[in-house]
Amino acid sequence: MDKFNIMGFRKMKKESIGLTETNYYNLSDDLTLEGGGKLKEVTIAYETYGKLNKEKSNAILVCHALSGDAHVAGWHEGDRKPGWWDSIIGPGKCLDTERYFIICSNIIGGCKGSTGPSSIDPETGKPYGLNFPIITILDMVNAQKNLVDHLGINQLFAVVGGSMGGMQVLQWCVSYPDMVRLAIPIATAAHSAPQQIAFNEVGRQAIISDSKWNEGDYYSDEIPKVGLSLARMIGHITYLSYESMYQKFGRRLQDKEKYGFDFSLDFEVESYLHYQGESFVKRFDANSYLYITKAIDYFDLTKNGSLAEGFEDVKAKFLVISVNSDWLYPPAQSKEIVMALTANNIDVSYHELKSSYGHDAFLLEEGQLNYIISGFLSDIHVEDVMTGEITKISEESSMEEAARLMLENKVTHLPVVTDMDNLIGIVTAWDISKAVALKCSKLEEIMTKEVIVSKPGDQIEKAAEKMKKYNISSLPVVDNDHRVIGIITTDHISTLITRDIEKI
Ligand code: SAM
Repeated sequence: MDKFNIMGFRKMKKESIGLTETNYYNLSDDLTLEGGGKLKEVTIAYETYGKLNKEKSNAILVCHALSGDAHVAGWHEGDRKPGWWDSIIGPGKCLDTERYFIICSNIIGGCKGSTGPSSIDPETGKPYGLNFPIITILDMVNAQKNLVDHLGINQLFAVVGGSMGGMQVLQWCVSYPDMVRLAIPIATAAHSAPQQIAFNEVGRQAIISDSKWNEGDYYSDEIPKVGLSLARMIGHITYLSYESMYQKFGRRLQDKEKYGFDFSLDFEVESYLHYQGESFVKRFDANSYLYITKAIDYFDLTKNGSLAEGFEDVKAKFLVISVNSDWLYPPAQSKEIVMALTANNIDVSYHELKSSYGHDAFLLEEGQLNYIISGFLSDIHVEDVMTGEITKISEESSMEEAARLMLENKVTHLPVVTDMDNLIGIVTAWDISKAVALKCSKLEEIMTKEVIVSKPGDQIEKAAEKMKKYNISSLPVVDNDHRVIGIITTDHISTLITRDIEKI
């Protein structure tokens, strides 16, 4: 019984996914860019964890922020730290690798394996530098779309990301509305505000004014360490909060008993920022910093000045999360997203994390994130996972017609409907063989008339129980007028429903 808490629920046993490695996908075509032109020979670095189910319906795409990469969870051989969002990805965590197939790719323009300004330009044989084209959040998403297509996934169960990752989540929902079932944008905005652009510009100027930057052509020489480190220091201040900085550093001095009365480092906070800057230059490319921050600045999903209009085509169901102490992407920007989605009748829940960490809370508040996200992901209804494109057959059709439809569409269950799409029966491959054996030729004689159905608002657990109880692998989904609007199969929901408690 120790595996269960007093509510009777299984206690989540959180484990690591262990060793992981980065894969590389080379796009077969050039990538057409929003700002014009094409990017040739594009490579995308990506990692995946968990198993894609048979229907390919359990994929979750995780999008990273400015300085992130494809290594979002688990361990790389020899590393001292796991992936950057290991706290929420793995067995028993909210992005449960026993249920979902997790994908995370490095953005184009980055410097962690995907094509970016430090990659070799196929036309010159040298690093792109400033010959790299300006890219946008849409371009990053279009590159990810190529990867998702390559993995054979028609629809993502969810897209999740914080900060610039959240911008990609929103862009996915706007650009590919039919490909996203659930969307979780965290600590983000639907358009960059002047204050955000201002901070980005100061960071860029820090890099550009470093003489070592050399118009972006520094790869065979010394890198612009001072500028990039300064950009990171500025950025880092915006990721923390007044309160978290007070808690972390107070006014404590670093390695001294009293003020130096000079311009050497006095305070712990100064020393911390310098450390952050110095370690950043060892792992990040200055030109990537310029290109990515520019992509963030250009991000604006409003249409004719209206975000509601910008979200007009969105179909996903949303969980919007903000952080009460985030002054870089304040809750007001998340609430604006919620309002615009609501104006389009989109199903949206909103949560404000209570945290003193500031913007960084989206990486640090693992308890709250695991609780809120797992609740959202397990509250799945039949309409969230059913297939809307259904192969149906009319009551007047012949048995041959039914057999042909099953073969052509690779389905085993055919709902039988009237002219008005009302469900009157179901015929399966099993029924067809029975018809052959009994020499029946009419559909009406062989179809099952008392069809077990599901409603779009049913919890998928309920639908699964029904299928188990009646030993059937497919349920037509009907609306209140008994019209067939979808179909749900055991394959669709395999791995998505809570694991069977008896097995534990
Ligand atoms: N394992 C099978 C499957 O894939 O569903 C079911 C076996 S069951 C003995 C076969 C019968 O179930 C067939 O006569 C078929 O018409 C019926 N059947 C399949 N789906 C049904 C549903 N949703 N409601 C009622 N009967 C159904």
